[in-house]
Amino acid sequence: MRFEPGAPVEAGFVPLCVPEIRGNEWTYVKECLDSGWVSSVGSYVDRFERMVADYVGAKYAVAAVNGTAALHIALLVAGVQPEDEVLVSALTFIASANSIRYAGAWPVFIDAEPEYWQFDVQNATAFLEQECHLQDGALRNKATGRRVKAIMAVDILGHPADRDAIRALAQRFGLEVIEDATESLGADYREKKVGSGSAAACFSFNGNKILTTGGGGMFVTDNEQWMTRARYLTTQAKDDPLEYIHGEIGYNYRLTNVQAAIGCAQMELLDEYVAAKRRIAARYLEAFRDIPGLAPMPEAAWARSTSWMFTTLVEPPFSLSSRELLRHLQTQKIQARPLWQPLHLSPAHLPTRAHCPVAESLHARALSLPCSVGLRPADQERVIAAVLAAK
Ligand SMILES: *Cc1c(COP(=O)(O)O)cnc(C)c1O
Repeated sequence: MRFEPGAPVEAGFVPLCVPEIRGNEWTYVKECLDSGWVSSVGSYVDRFERMVADYVGAKYAVAAVNGTAALHIALLVAGVQPEDEVLVSALTFIASANSIRYAGAWPVFIDAEPEYWQFDVQNATAFLEQECHLQDGALRNKATGRRVKAIMAVDILGHPADRDAIRALAQRFGLEVIEDATESLGADYREKKVGSGSAAACFSFNGNKILTTGGGGMFVTDNEQWMTRARYLTTQAKDDPLEYIHGEIGYNYRLTNVQAAIGCAQMELLDEYVAAKRRIAARYLEAFRDIPGLAPMPEAAWARSTSWMFTTLVEPPFSLSSRELLRHLQTQKIQARPLWQPLHLSPAHLPTRAHCPVAESLHARALSLPCSVGLRPADQERVIAAVLAAK
């Protein structure tokens, strides 16, 4: 059975992760429609940007049509040029790496670390120290001769990557950092919200993310020039609005007021949603604690994950593999999902020289289980019983 985020849910079916619409969405959208402010200018766009910036503790926010577009813009404002290289997590959704290709640059895939499954700073350090050198004032990949310009560290499954270590590494090698925080809105890194203190962080409001606007994204930054440039590039790089003079090639990447209206209503309930995700994860952790062969993604002492997508390793002595368990759950009308194919193996990004054994091993063993904000306790118990029946 297939299930797309945002589609209606069939009775008796427990979907993986569906939107939760129960706040002021209807009221705000009606206000947009009644006022005629439906497109990419309007008070809800400004309000949504302010709400996200204030919530995460960033100075500025620029809304975008989706998270992938926000990442593309972040790369451009960070000065990534065609034929540059950008270090990026191998274990992530393909949009992270695709955005690098949209900028004409090339991804260099970095393995996941085995503890919390995030961007492996040690693997990145080894690449920069051993496989790159300074030439004509630029850091270059010895094998390709290309300039290495930035690090795109991805927070996967609602857990932050180790920002301090990533920022220190970037500083040491003169690189920019773009945080793909599309899965970690609401998470804490060392007592601060993900998105605070960032030169460039991006969020997504796709249908399966913790908040949704149907589709949408946000670029946040503490850098005023980068904010101005992001705004310019997302609105077709318009220099003279009256005479329609454009200084360069821009993009039609602005979020509409209708979507932003949904976003404002969603933001009002973000803390509740995060609490619900954590409650769901805590119940799974409790139920699986003593089950040999089930090992949920751990949380670092320095982090507070949102548990956006509850994911566990399934390995011997559990009687089924992660894919067998997935199929078993499918027969019970329960939707589960493996992690993404590690991107160094993706046909879309071949050829790459990367060697990412941790990403491959996690990919083979991991399985995400139903964790919608609105997951009913009875449905979660049904999922738990179905998993335990297979052990
Ligand atoms: C969802 C997601 C994106 C892209 O966001 P969209 O809004 O779907 O374009 C990028 N990176 C990661 C890791 C994601 O999970």
